[in-house]
Amino acid sequence: MKGYMLIGGKRVFKKEEIEIRFPYDNSLVGTIPRGDERDAQLAVEVAEVGFKKLKEMTAYERFRALEKAARIISKRSQEFAQLLTLEVGKTIKESMGEVGRAVNTLTLSAEEAKRVLGEEVPFEGAPGVKGKVGFYRRVPIGVIGCITPFNFPLNLTCHKVGPALAAGNSVVIKPSENTSLTVIKLAEVLIEAGFPPEAVNVLTGYGEEVGDALVRNSKVRMITFTGSVETGKVIMSRGGLKKYAMELGSNAGVYVDRDQSSRLKELAERIGRGGFTLAGQVCISVQRVFVHSEVYDGFLKELSSFAEGLKVGDPRSEDTDVGPVIDKGAADRIMDWIEEALSKGAELVCGGKRLSDTLIEPTVIRDVPRDSKLFRKEVFGPVIVVNRVSSLEEAIEMINDSPYGLQAGIFTNDLKGAMKFAQEVECGGITVNEIPTFRVDQMPYGGVKESGIGREGPKFAVEEMTEIKTICFDLN
Ligand code: NAD
Repeated sequence: MKGYMLIGGKRVFKKEEIEIRFPYDNSLVGTIPRGDERDAQLAVEVAEVGFKKLKEMTAYERFRALEKAARIISKRSQEFAQLLTLEVGKTIKESMGEVGRAVNTLTLSAEEAKRVLGEEVPFEGAPGVKGKVGFYRRVPIGVIGCITPFNFPLNLTCHKVGPALAAGNSVVIKPSENTSLTVIKLAEVLIEAGFPPEAVNVLTGYGEEVGDALVRNSKVRMITFTGSVETGKVIMSRGGLKKYAMELGSNAGVYVDRDQSSRLKELAERIGRGGFTLAGQVCISVQRVFVHSEVYDGFLKELSSFAEGLKVGDPRSEDTDVGPVIDKGAADRIMDWIEEALSKGAELVCGGKRLSDTLIEPTVIRDVPRDSKLFRKEVFGPVIVVNRVSSLEEAIEMINDSPYGLQAGIFTNDLKGAMKFAQEVECGGITVNEIPTFRVDQMPYGGVKESGIGREGPKFAVEEMTEIKTICFDLN
């Protein structure tokens, strides 16, 4: 597919193009234009027109358009899923799952268009104030820049564009250069569904070029970003005075308590899926597992037998469980981190081999030292670290020993222990008797510490993407 930028509904091509390659075998999937500062400027100017045009749509009309977009994507789910598999390298099962979630995210956003509520402000509650009444409303911000990562190009873009349009904002989307083709199709669907073409724009190209130009444009009133901590920090230092929502990385931890001995096989499977889905390239992949010493050996045995049973290979095959990572550079880095942990005294339990430029066996490593990258940083690959702990308190301390704080989980029968965990672990979300990879699209979702600022989930994103305007009447 020859990709293009979409500015005011017009397809924009450039002489210089970037190739999009299938992560599994490096074959060419398509190309996208290498956008630059001038393209960003034009897209933002057009989006300002789009913002004005959106004001002519009622909330009900925005609800209808988002609902229609969800229906169109649902009808074309096979086509979207196949493209996702080619761009991201995720298995076809995973791609169908993402399309289903995107349909749900747009449907939830549609509903929120009708629920942008304000409330009365009791001015007369202040001393000496009489005869003043008023209220506040939530109003759209203007042009929102939506910058998205490679791993869930469809659903994560819907998490930005859906609430933005629901609230009446226009958007300029800058998708990952690895996975832009899916996002171009999404934008076309939104226009087909009834949004003004000027309100939904897509820029393609490199982050440091066209992405940076979008971030620095002062007419962009908010940047909603999902991606790595490193990029998030650069964006916030470059963008100046505007609103930011930041959905960043993590190295999610989970604790398996001593009382779980009767269900270690089940837990190993769930935790294994949480770590190896999409070859570990999920922001809430299970990366660090802390297991009580009484059940440690049994858990490790079950986890390694689960990992060894997974089929690694071509993501287009229905029976593949684990596909490739995004590119050779990512695989090189992951292999280096495994080597580093082993050289510092960690022990390989299973996997650890590289099967091709981008395929890595599902890998389990035990007793990983705290100062190794596998413990401290986000691996974003099919690697699970399993360390032994002797108490709930030690597990909490280990999980909190991280710059990140997105989600964490605990498996236990101890109610008080679960509550202590929920209160003391520093994360945006806690899962009890569930893996931290659990997410449904309506829930508030986001991180603390370096994992981010703000919350997604359409209801919460609409709050982030609106300003409060206070209106006061003097009736004296
Ligand atoms: P990335 O940070 O490399 O890139 C994300 C996006 O930012 C891309 O579109 C890229 O082109 C753009 N970009 C890069 N430099 C830029 C700049 N200077 N200015 C403007 N834009 C710029 O991330 P990635 O490798 O695509 O995705 C993986 C990361 O995303 C992981 O860290 C993962 O945890 C995170 N992630 C977080 C969530 C979440 O909800 N918290 C969800 C998915 C992924």
